[in-house]
Amino acid sequence: MADSEVLGFQHMGLDQRLLQAIAEQGWARPTLIQEKAIPLALEGKDLLARARTGSGKTAAYAIPLLQHLLHRKATGPVVEQAIRGLVLVPTKELARQAQTMIRQLTAYCSRDVRVVDVSASEDFAFQRPLLMEKPDVVVGTPSRVLSHLLQGNLNLRDSLELLVMDEADLLFSFGFEEELKTLLCHLPRIYQAFLMSATFNEDVQALKELVLHNPVTLKLQESQLPGPDQLQQFQVVCETEEDKFLLLYALLKLSLLRGKSLLFVNTLERGYRLRLFLEQFSIPACVLNGELPLRSRASDTESGVARGIDFHNVTAVLNFDLPPSPEAYIHRAGRTARANNPGTALTFVLPTERSQLKEIEEALGGENAESMFLPYQFRMEEIEGFRYRCRDAMRSVTKQAIREARLKEIKEELLHSEKLKTYFEDNPRDLQLLRHDRPLHPAVVKPHLGHVPDYLVPPTLRGIARPHSKRKRNRPFTSLRKLKTPRTQNPLRSFKYTRKKQRTSAPSAKHS
Ligand code: AMP
Repeated sequence: MADSEVLGFQHMGLDQRLLQAIAEQGWARPTLIQEKAIPLALEGKDLLARARTGSGKTAAYAIPLLQHLLHRKATGPVVEQAIRGLVLVPTKELARQAQTMIRQLTAYCSRDVRVVDVSASEDFAFQRPLLMEKPDVVVGTPSRVLSHLLQGNLNLRDSLELLVMDEADLLFSFGFEEELKTLLCHLPRIYQAFLMSATFNEDVQALKELVLHNPVTLKLQESQLPGPDQLQQFQVVCETEEDKFLLLYALLKLSLLRGKSLLFVNTLERGYRLRLFLEQFSIPACVLNGELPLRSRASDTESGVARGIDFHNVTAVLNFDLPPSPEAYIHRAGRTARANNPGTALTFVLPTERSQLKEIEEALGGENAESMFLPYQFRMEEIEGFRYRCRDAMRSVTKQAIREARLKEIKEELLHSEKLKTYFEDNPRDLQLLRHDRPLHPAVVKPHLGHVPDYLVPPTLRGIARPHSKRKRNRPFTSLRKLKTPRTQNPLRSFKYTRKKQRTSAPSAKHS
């Protein structure tokens, strides 16, 4: 779009003090999201905006929020000081960033508009008096804000006019669901709301139903993934299915893939196959089974497996199976390289799937489609020594073993379900039957496979890849060729896997 067509900040009807602060930031023109969102927000619309970190999304909601507050103070009847804006973010770090941005934008009206970040590390007693002074805007994580509401330090029911939910997709996926719902009960019936999210998944849809009224949806045609300096995207051509398993085993066992990794497959059956395959080598893995919670809505572990996992700082996403569409690719790759962290997306592709990968490339890469995926350089012959073990493990993971693994998880779900507790109390025989049902044996694990003898380690990696030494946390992804320093972490172990205890209790995931 030509510059002249962009609606500049000075044509948006903004308060002079805001324009001054924007000029001080050196922002010549609004970003795409700001250009679209600010005028709509100023008209009083609810917004659902797809916006990733780096798109200028913070200012896209902060500018109309501040404009609303300044306008109200300047033109309306003299009103009591009150908390009128609430910004909810999934992490303490984001709360700090949002507060900083709002402070910068209020540089010329800091007496008129005050903001408090309740997620900063100070204790509750310190924050109480700050909240008693009724700052205009409160920023925080849902858990912090809810605690203040419950302790009576904060009352929003009579004053809130504008609610922002930033990184809305993460707000739910960090296990904030229950807290958010409780928090919403403390808000007034009518307020304007903005929901900003990197992806539009079911969680965001659920939130949309909860908080937005006739929203305008902004799906902007900007790049939906971070640039190459933040997200490195590789394609790994594997000649056969077996090569995919072999390479994955080598990448994990030799700790060439480190930090938290998410492996994506196209069917649930494949997920369990992969898990059992990795377990053969004592590589811990868990399946995020979206099917379980949906089918057993009665279960207290609704989405428990996925919710209990801390998706923060996922250093690598590995598409073990090619994503079925460009949207699926974005959804998967978008799990890494978040909030300015670097990340790697690695996509395994069979020779027969190359044209499909090309389609993804063309849909997402735009002008740079050719260079979107870097070829991942590795020497398959170096890991040939692992092939025999790989085959052995693949053979152990039979259809029957997969079926048993799935059944075992369903049984666990049932046995631990809060909702079914009363049923089992009334029908103890059913519980007995379930408990003493024949034991399930997903797959025999051969302990010797967990060990990698030195002679199997590729010569170029000997003395570098030490699969059994102590792990270090969150090292970035390293290619076989680039590896220079000893890197030994088993990445899957860095996931915090916790089961949600009760639907009524606080979520178990910890947030920083
Ligand atoms: P965000 O997407 O909110 O994390 O913002 C990413 C970065 O973009 C921040 O460092 C902002 O200071 C910067 N930024 C926001 N709006 C603009 C703009 N209109 N022009 C240039 N930079 C901007």
